[in-house]
This record gives sequence, structure tokens and C-alpha cells, in this order.
Amino acid sequence: MNDQVAIQGLHHVTAIAGDPQRNVRFYTEILGLRLVKRTVNFDDPGTYHLYYGDSHGRPGTLLTFFPWPQARPGRVGAGQVAATAFTIPVSALDYWQGRLRAHGISVERIAPRFGEEEVVLSFQDPDGLELELVAHPRAEERPGWPEGPIPPEYALRGLHAVTMLEAIAEPTLRFLVEGMGFRLVQEEGDRVRLAVGAGGPGAWVDLRVDPRMSRGRVAVGTVHHVAWRVRNEAEQGAWRTRLQALGLYVTPVMDRKYFRSIYFREPGGVLFEIATDPPGFTVDEAPERLGTGLMLPPWLEPLRAEIEAALPPLMISTI
Ligand code: ZN
Repeated sequence: MNDQVAIQGLHHVTAIAGDPQRNVRFYTEILGLRLVKRTVNFDDPGTYHLYYGDSHGRPGTLLTFFPWPQARPGRVGAGQVAATAFTIPVSALDYWQGRLRAHGISVERIAPRFGEEEVVLSFQDPDGLELELVAHPRAEERPGWPEGPIPPEYALRGLHAVTMLEAIAEPTLRFLVEGMGFRLVQEEGDRVRLAVGAGGPGAWVDLRVDPRMSRGRVAVGTVHHVAWRVRNEAEQGAWRTRLQALGLYVTPVMDRKYFRSIYFREPGGVLFEIATDPPGFTVDEAPERLGTGLMLPPWLEPLRAEIEAALPPLMISTI
């Protein structure tokens, strides 16, 4: 794939939560992300879709959730994302370890990865979703949210990488490299790191292989899909054609209001999305108002009263 249409890195990661209120509290008050959009799952408007990110919800900073309060817990296994990582500055490591512990969260500082380059704090959100904060020298390339609840010098700097778990490496590895333009950059133990676009924090995927691992189950506390960035709809169209030529089933382009999306599965089973950078989260709310209203796409607006009545109430602290 030529550089003109190269994938730029992670756009967002979407996971399943249980109680939406608990989810909002954890990600805004403890992790200090900004709730940049409160909407519904366009494919299931009885469910919220909550987007967290940096000050503007820039692609590459977004973790989003479908809260399914009645659903059972999922299980991480082969063909799934095993951990979602955010970048933090190296100077923020002790701050975050202390902060998470002070909130009663069990956090583990695991052995540095890739030599001494990455120090990782590993913990779970209230639904059991595996998260990591990775202290990295390149964290300063992206800004923290200056108005957030965390001192900006310690704030999360966007997605770092996702770790995919597979029972067999080869089909996924080959697809990422030959099909999607990733390149192998590091290898350590059972972990292989691939980069895309310019590489670096936010443009990495780690592959972990465990042949004994059975398939997982996507439900509460697990990742639903991983979205990769392209710059515009023309590039997305080129990817759709290319992926179909490789024999994959790729969905038609879907209007997600804040971006356009296509979906397909990588050979190991992880659901992938390719999402456009534009138009972004300020398309229907001013930057200073992001996340304050329940926003609906035009085709669901006529059903607003029914949708609002069916959704569980949500208290949003406006920071
Ligand atoms: Zn998505």
C-alpha cells in the first residue's frame, strides 16, 4: 500500500461496559479523560455510546464504550484485544501508581518492556477491562488536557498501543504486514510489536501469541473492536477496495457522524474498523460544550423522546 493512503495509527478502541454511570465516573474522575461525546449506539439506539478522549477528542486519543448493564462478563481469549494502553510521561509514573492505589485500584508495575524503554502500570477498570498506562519518553509529543482534573504534566497523552492475543501468529502477522502495511519493529518474549504510518505511541499494535489460549467472549469488560485512522473518505474507499480484493468481507461505509467507518475481521478474529479523521467531535457541539448533551444523528432525532426515556439517567460532572 503506498504512503498516500497509509493507515495513520489508532483512531479509537471500543469496549463493552456494564453500568454507564460507573463508567463515566471512572474514566472522567479517576483517569481524567474528557467525555467528548454522549450519544447512542447507532446500530442499537437503546444503548449509550460514550466517547472519552483528549480536549477535542482527537483521533488516536479515544476510548469508547457501549454500556450493557444487563450483560454478563466477557472473557479475554484468542482473537481478542488483551489490553488497551495509554501513554503517560515518564515523570508521571509515581503519580499514577499512587493515584490509582488511593482510589482502591489494584495496580501492578510490570517489568519494563523492550529494554528499559517502557515502564507499564497494569490495572483493570471497574468492569474488568485490562488497561495499561505506559511511561514513554515520547509522551511529550502529544499534549495533556489542560483543563482536566489531572495536572496537565501528568495527564494521559492518548492511546499508546493495543495488545492483541492470538492462538496462531502467522495469519494475523502476515495480514497486518502484507495486507495493511504494518512493519515489525520490536520483538521480546511472546510479544511482537508492529508499527504503522509514522509509528510511535498511538501507531503501534502488539501481538501476543499463546497456542493454548481458547477463544474469548466479547461481553462486559472486553474490547469490541479496534479502529485505525485514515485521513479522508477517498483513502477509506481505497482500503475498502483493497481489503475486498484480499478476499475479506468488508461492510459498506457507515456514517458514524463524527467519522465514517468500514468494518472487517483480521484472520485471528479481532474486529477491525477503518475510520476517517474528519469531521470530528466538534461537528455538532462547540469545543467547550463537548459531552454535555445527548447528541443524536439526524435520522434518530425524530425518536429523541423515546430514546431518552429508555436510556438510564446519567449524571455528568461538567469539567
Ligand atoms: Zn468504532
